[in-house]
Amino acid sequence: MDLQLKDKVILISGGAKGIGGAISKMLIDEGAIPVFIDPSEEEGRELVDYAKGKALQIPVRMFTPEDAQAAVKICLEKYGRIDGIVNNAGANDGVGLEHGTPEAFAKSVTKNLNHYYYLAHYALPELKKTQGAIVNISSKTAITGQGGTSGYVAAKGAQLALTREWAAELLPYQIRVNAVIPAEVYTPLYKNWINTFPDPEKKLAEINQKIPLGRRMTQPEEIASMTVFLLSKQATHITGQHLFVDGGYTHLDRTL
Ligand code: NAP
Repeated sequence: MDLQLKDKVILISGGAKGIGGAISKMLIDEGAIPVFIDPSEEEGRELVDYAKGKALQIPVRMFTPEDAQAAVKICLEKYGRIDGIVNNAGANDGVGLEHGTPEAFAKSVTKNLNHYYYLAHYALPELKKTQGAIVNISSKTAITGQGGTSGYVAAKGAQLALTREWAAELLPYQIRVNAVIPAEVYTPLYKNWINTFPDPEKKLAEINQKIPLGRRMTQPEEIASMTVFLLSKQATHITGQHLFVDGGYTHLDRTL
């Protein structure tokens, strides 16, 4: 299948490592040009080298509308177009109901949600020209809950709502908007979390046992495959969808 992504310019938040890093790499393999907003300089440099220069890192931690506006401007100055965006940057920061504070909750929601809107908003004029696509990376916690992480889950749920809202609003422009929902993906972020347990290996083995397909974590590349497909012209009639790439973790029978 030809994804027809050659020379397409895709803006990705958090695209230097983890899930975003795998998306950037797969785009490079498809001949596309990832422009990734991510402060992780070493991983970013490796990706730009891998792309033989046909990739760009914007080394900032996106937080404000100005950050997103500047990223769009830099992308346009260098490549003159935007064919798609992937809203991906985020972290499960454990601000709960009982042990959190209103201030920490507001900060967690802002940090995990607002830049999804900012990037889509500022990239929209360009996406209208290219009939580009938007992919929002959410989380199964938006559907299942997790406990102890109200801010992150509120943001992840809102990302799913915005996926449908934007899909509806952008129909006249043929801009498609979809969400990809990972559950358990072994990334640097996940590794840090596992290492907070007294016996990380044991904890990892317990989680693997709960994942129906293959009793293993989802690989970042498996999230990337779905994302890159959704960005491509092979997905031209898919919009407003929430796509679970989770080895059956969220929906299959608990006895399996
Ligand atoms: P990761 O391993 O931490 O990679 C994310 C990358 O994004 C890192 O390089 C990080 O830099 C960067 N980043 C974080 N916040 C940023 C910001 N505001 N602006 C620009 N760059 C930023 O994370 P991941 O596990 O791949 O997670 C990616 C997405 O998948 C997140 O939205 C997460 O909620 C979602 N997700 C992940 C899992 C999972 O199991 N891993 C499950 C469900 C959903 P630093 O390292 O310097 O922070």
